[in-house]
Amino acid sequence: MPALSPRMHGIHASPASILRRRARELLAAGRDIIELSSGNLDFATPDHVIAAAHAAALRGETRYTDVDGTPDMKRAVRAALLRDHRLSYAQDEIIVCNGSTQALFNALQATLALGDEVIIPAPYWAPYLDQVRLSGGTPVTVPCSQNNGFKLRADDLRTAIAARTRWLIINNPVNPSGAVYSAGELSAIAAVLLQHPDIWILADGLYEHMVFGGIPAPTLSAIEPRLRPRTLTISGVAKSYAMMGWRVGYAAGPAALIGAMTRIQSQTTNSASSISQAAAVAALDGPQDLLSERASILRARRDRFAEIVNDCVDLSCEPPEGTFYLLVACAGVISKRSPDGKLIATDRDFAAYLLDHADLVVVAGEDFGLSPYIRVSFANPLPVIEEAGRRLKRTCDALR
Ligand code: PMP
Repeated sequence: MPALSPRMHGIHASPASILRRRARELLAAGRDIIELSSGNLDFATPDHVIAAAHAAALRGETRYTDVDGTPDMKRAVRAALLRDHRLSYAQDEIIVCNGSTQALFNALQATLALGDEVIIPAPYWAPYLDQVRLSGGTPVTVPCSQNNGFKLRADDLRTAIAARTRWLIINNPVNPSGAVYSAGELSAIAAVLLQHPDIWILADGLYEHMVFGGIPAPTLSAIEPRLRPRTLTISGVAKSYAMMGWRVGYAAGPAALIGAMTRIQSQTTNSASSISQAAAVAALDGPQDLLSERASILRARRDRFAEIVNDCVDLSCEPPEGTFYLLVACAGVISKRSPDGKLIATDRDFAAYLLDHADLVVVAGEDFGLSPYIRVSFANPLPVIEEAGRRLKRTCDALR
């Protein structure tokens, strides 16, 4: 085969995509798999959103839209930012993308030169790293320990900043820990960033509404307006409105950066789907009660799953304040052996053990830069969580 680009060195398929495929194949092969690894919610996209997509298609909204999004979608994004964060953005400060994944990639492509550094708190959402590498940059991860709630401390940020630092990526709430930065914690981080005017800030708020404290998770440029001219605020409809497969995300930031991102998008994927944008308008403009209703369902599942986990020998977790993930500490299983004599040396071994012996698919800590942990999702109905819990307990008890 002719060679691939040197750019592909060290570039992996995203861990979530590998596990999703594996779970589907095992299910098809007849295994009684429970998928605790997925970023997919079990909730349905709301009916009024689906109806809006259908109506848009029937109206003939089946053509390319403006690259940076339909005027109506950009209006809806501006209104949502104002409603949720009191952030006011102009039409040319917004871009609509094929998922927030693309917004991130456009931004990194538009700004990074070879060898530029991007600070990424760990545990992290894995694609941040490979997106930085694909854009010529170098990811600099900063470990955020459980003692500090898996959150970046201002002092650790200060130490990580170097001459080549171009971006800080800050995700709130955090995938995979479910940690939620408070306004006070973000202010402390902002104070460090104010001393470094050449650093961009990428605030990824994709899970902003999946919080158990009532109000959307705060975002940096709302907390510290002086950072606004160099902050890119990213979000999307994927999680909040259970629209993972519709592929609509967006970013708000300075017009010059948004313009550069739009030029990249015009030459790569063009606009997000016209029909999905019409659906996203209905989601953002429509009734918002479902956000708190769904958050309270998730909260009950979180409480139960955390109870189950903490009941297992050698496992523990803190119930997170947001997202639909539990980060489970599994130091207690390391160095133990499975009933068939296999050594559990790493969290990846533990994840493999759970798959082989309990048909549970979980993500290993190695995949998000912090070990020994596993990430389990509670975006599953309670009876499924109960069954997963029984299997988890049985397989942990069987370790020697
Ligand atoms: N940021 C984080 C932290 C995520 O977990 C995800 C998806 N799981 C994304 C961004 C991208 O989501 P999407 O492209 O569906 O908007």
